[in-house]
Amino acid sequence: MFENLSDRLSGVFDRLTKQGALSADDVKTALREVRVALLEADVSLPVARSFIKAVEEKATGAAVTKSVTPGQQVVKIVHDELIEVLKGEGEPGTLKIDNAPAPILMVGLQGSGKTTTTGKLAKRLKDREGKKVLMASLDIYRPAAMDQLAVLGQQVGVDTLPIVKGENAVQIAKRAKQQAMLGGYDVYMLDTAGRLQIDDVLMKEVEDVRDVVSPRETLLVVDGLTGQVAVEVAEEFDGKIGISGVVLTRMDGDGRGGAALSMRAVTGKPIKFVGLGEKMDALETFEPERIAGRILG
Ligand code: GDP
Repeated sequence: MFENLSDRLSGVFDRLTKQGALSADDVKTALREVRVALLEADVSLPVARSFIKAVEEKATGAAVTKSVTPGQQVVKIVHDELIEVLKGEGEPGTLKIDNAPAPILMVGLQGSGKTTTTGKLAKRLKDREGKKVLMASLDIYRPAAMDQLAVLGQQVGVDTLPIVKGENAVQIAKRAKQQAMLGGYDVYMLDTAGRLQIDDVLMKEVEDVRDVVSPRETLLVVDGLTGQVAVEVAEEFDGKIGISGVVLTRMDGDGRGGAALSMRAVTGKPIKFVGLGEKMDALETFEPERIAGRILG
């Protein structure tokens, strides 16, 4: 499918004369290949450009170690820079859920995997951290989505807030908060309604819910296969709601992980978890190393 970047660069450097340091020309030639690899991995053009610039500055004049070829040397510099951009502040996979009951707001477009991720994360908090978790669906527009969360709750052994017809999202959020306090829950997760596209009504509703519960974490769930769209969605949600982290779903698919790099470069928000399938245990801590490897091919 894709030509491996390491092989590609070795090919380029085989045609160049061997020197002790990388010359500006060597680096330029190599970076053309890196740029193609980034774009093939679905990294957005502006992000690819600024990334290449950073690598160019680091690579030009860098000494080539005897044990590696110039191509391998550039791959290493690219790899290290990828890790640098991909890793956010804080320990990956951890959430701020100290003051019980801690509200977690789950936001994102419909179909991004929001409800599935809510279930996965609740299971993880219960199983790994022994937390008592309550989940509530705020999707008053799609009764099926409410039922879906209830089914997932049963499946993973996590309580869901009983469904009461006729309430609006803010009323449900208030009821979840109260139930979480009364029931001695450590965490309550609010699965907000998604739309196919961002619209003002959706944003206003999420803002109102945010103001009522003051979430400890606001996690944006985005489909990692949607590349540039994922980044635009993240900018929009971060600007309007303020997100504390990102969960990239469908990372089990064929995508090459470029959305992760663009996401980090554009929003600066940490990617906390990745979704790797439909099953309830298919959620993993985001690991920059793995994504870097995938982008490099
Ligand atoms: P929502 O509308 O955002 O709540 O999306 P759902 O949680 O209903 O997910 C939509 C579809 O994507 C479902 O069929 C999920 O099983 C599937 N899905 C969610 N996360 C992942 C993932 O990480 N990988 C794969 N392959 N499928 C996923």
